[in-house]
Amino acid sequence: MSLVVIGTLAYDSIETPYDRRADALGGSAMYFSVAASNFGPVRLVGVVGDDFKKSDLDFLAGRGIDVSGVEVAKGKSFRWSGRYEADWNTRHTLDTQLNVFEHFDPKLPPACRDAEFVFLANAEPRIQMKALDQVTKARFVVADTMNLWIDIKKSDLLALLARVDGVVLNDEEARMLTGEKNLFRAAHKVLTYGPRYVILKKGEHGAFLIGADAHFSLPAYPVNAVVDPTGAGDCFAGGFMGYVASARNIEPRTLRRAMLYGTVTASFCVQGFSVEDIGKRTRTDVESRFNELLDITSL
Ligand code: AMP
Repeated sequence: MSLVVIGTLAYDSIETPYDRRADALGGSAMYFSVAASNFGPVRLVGVVGDDFKKSDLDFLAGRGIDVSGVEVAKGKSFRWSGRYEADWNTRHTLDTQLNVFEHFDPKLPPACRDAEFVFLANAEPRIQMKALDQVTKARFVVADTMNLWIDIKKSDLLALLARVDGVVLNDEEARMLTGEKNLFRAAHKVLTYGPRYVILKKGEHGAFLIGADAHFSLPAYPVNAVVDPTGAGDCFAGGFMGYVASARNIEPRTLRRAMLYGTVTASFCVQGFSVEDIGKRTRTDVESRFNELLDITSL
């Protein structure tokens, strides 16, 4: 499996209606790589400050994640803080400190440049583009983004979308990016920007995949004790891309199965703060929940 991810490694401070955590391990690429590591080796490219704990890098390496593409720069690591409303769907960003990420100039090691499967995790589109410029053998490149970049860097983001095979968006991002209220219309409009596939995540209401030759919808796995939804989108993408990279093809059947793997991987993530739950999971846990989801969605 040759899968590379480029994005943030962070320390997050999170407030939920029931609890809070300060300086928890987070970041778009961190969550993605932990999730994808259930399917095989992952190469991680990013930057951390000199405050980043060695034990956190060791944890990632212990899950088979290649951290040799993680640069350690002088200064503080990326920090983000957010608060969730009681409905879990409304999240307020309280603070974003780019710190060492502000001047990050990604330099992909040779093994990362040769990867066949590439995920551009949520980051400033300019950084995602710089990483994309370096990959030489990619068969399937998927990008993520967020409301901040749609708001302040939309033209950079559209230039990136013209060059990728797929994009993952949540409902709010899809509406914001396209101006369409109806999510199917929004997804079809995103296809006109360039990607062959759009994966649209609707939180507890599930997700769908749309492409010129594809449409697949499924509900979320029913989790009855959500603890912290942070990183669910990144873990969905990690499960999706991890499975696709392990299958080494992008046939419609593979993409459909990958949607189930994304869904169950995200369901573990929300059961704990940070990577407290997903960071302990194995492929066996994922397979057992995959079969449950298959069962509850089959006739
Ligand atoms: P998600 O809940 O899937 O949207 O991902 C949450 C993660 O994204 C957190 O761990 C944050 O550290 C990270 N994050 C928040 N804002 C940004 C940003 N502007 N760029 C990159 N990563 C971010």
